[in-house]
Formats: sequence, structure tokens, C-alpha cells
Amino acid sequence: MKKVIELQNIKRDFQVGEETVHALRGVSFTINEGEFVTIMGTSGSGKSTLLNTLGCLDTPTSGEYLLDGISVRTMSKPQRAVLRNRKIGFVFQSYNLWPHMTVYENLAFGLEIKKVPKNVIRSEIERGLKLVNMSGYEKKYPGQLSGGQQQRIAIARALLLKPSVLLLDEPFSALDAKIRAQMREELKRIQEELNITVVFVTHDQE
Ligand code: ADP
Ligand code: MG
Repeated sequence: MKKVIELQNIKRDFQVGEETVHALRGVSFTINEGEFVTIMGTSGSGKSTLLNTLGCLDTPTSGEYLLDGISVRTMSKPQRAVLRNRKIGFVFQSYNLWPHMTVYENLAFGLEIKKVPKNVIRSEIERGLKLVNMSGYEKKYPGQLSGGQQQRIAIARALLLKPSVLLLDEPFSALDAKIRAQMREELKRIQEELNITVVFVTHDQE
């Protein structure tokens, strides 16, 4: 089985005034292609720090991280940014859609930067919206959508760039219980449909 993520003894310290906060104290694990992994812990237990490490947004104090077999630790910041753009899809609790842009424009943005041809962008967006059950919403603005709908768009956007791994940091925490349960089921369906690797962070024991 192909390893997508390999963490070896990852430590992350934060200096807060005189005090050193040990956010990660030697984390090691492997995630294989196509796995759905949930990381659960109370607030302050280091979940976001861990996910930011996986997403190449944060640099560990020590330890080794291999993403698709590539060592992230020794990379420069620009190299890491390139790797992140190629391999990581990130979904946060806040939907992070651009409010002044339509759903279509929000989805097209990342692909346009990659110089993907316009007709390919159109068909990819059509496919992405269908995947998250949001076909027909191209011309809406984020403010016209519910929280759950906005998060569907954020998921579609993260998946459009065909990442090696989809990282979600408490993505449904802002939604009410019924929608949250529905979104969990949908995410599982999407993961099975695309056979992608997912790391899902939550404090919710459900
Ligand atoms: P979680 O996502 O599980 O709530 P975090 O990873 O955000 O936990 O935080 C883990 C610990 O690291 C906490 O004690 C937090 O205060 C600390 N921490 C996280 N980020 C920083 C930072 N940028 N500067 C200082 N301390 C931080
Ligand atoms: Mg967090």
C-alpha cells in the first residue's frame, strides 16, 4: 500500500513569553493512500498544530515528515508552498470563500492560477459541484448560501486541485447538529467515491 503521510517523532514547541508550550511531543504515524483518518482531542490538545504540519503551513521544531515520500523538513518556504499547492486540500471551520466572488469564481480561482484551460475549468467545476450536490449554484454569492452549503463549496474547491490528501480542521463545528450529521455522511460518500486520503480533525465524539 502506498504511504501518503509519514510522521516520525514530530515535536512542536511554542515560546509564549517565558514559557515553552509543547504542542506536539513526538508524534509518529503513517497514513496510506485512500484511508480516512479522524484525529479527535479536546481543545488545546494540538490538533490544529498537527494538521498545519501535515498541510505544510507550520514547521515542526524537530522530527521528520514525508509527504508522498518527499521530505518536507529540509525544504525552503517557497518550495514548501509549491508542494502544498500541488498536494494539499485544506478545509477550515470558517468557510474562507471570497464574499465578493460568485461560487463559480471562487472555484475557478485556483485553477486559473494553475493556467488550466477555460473549458477544462468549466467541466471540472461542473463535476465538483455535482459531487457536493450543489449543481446550479454557480452564480450565487457565498452570502446567499447557508453555512452547510458554503462548506460544500469549500470542499469542492479543495478537491478541484486534485490533492494527494484532503485535510479538514473541525469543518462542521459551526453547523447545527442535524446538518453536521448529514455533512459527515456526505464527506464519507465523497471520500469513497473519489478514493482519496482524508484526515479529519474534530473535538466532537459523535
Ligand atoms: P487544538 O487545535 O487541538 O485546539 P492547537 O494545536 O491549536 O490545539 O494548540 C495546541 C497548543 O499549542 C495550545 O496550548 C495552544 O495555545 C498552543 N499554540 C498553538 N499555536 C500557537 C502559536 N502560534 N503560538 C503559541 N502557542 C500556540
Ligand atoms: Mg484547533
